[in-house]
Amino acid sequence: MEDLAAHIRAKIAAGTLPIPPDGAGKLWVGHGNGRQCDACDEAITAADREYEIDLSSDRTIWFHAKCLAAWHDARAKGLAHTPMATNGYGKQTARARLRDL
Ligand SMILES: [Zn+2]
Repeated sequence: MEDLAAHIRAKIAAGTLPIPPDGAGKLWVGHGNGRQCDACDEAITAADREYEIDLSSDRTIWFHAKCLAAWHDARAKGLAHTPMATNGYGKQTARARLRDL
């Protein structure tokens, strides 16, 4: 993936990658099993760690570790330019959550 951040922004803009307005839902971490990553579209193999996020909108998305970080980053940047920045789920929170993993 040459520019993961740009790829993720394009998917968000196209509506194929959700950005939940009320923050990410439950997050699960496990070994990959070949499922396609929702950010980079590549397989999450057994050698990778798989991050599964259950969004409140009944949708589940899967990421590689680096893709999850890029998604959080894209969300934080996007939210900074919209009124949703006032919902308290900004970059600081995203970083704190990543640390908690
Ligand atoms: Zn990925």
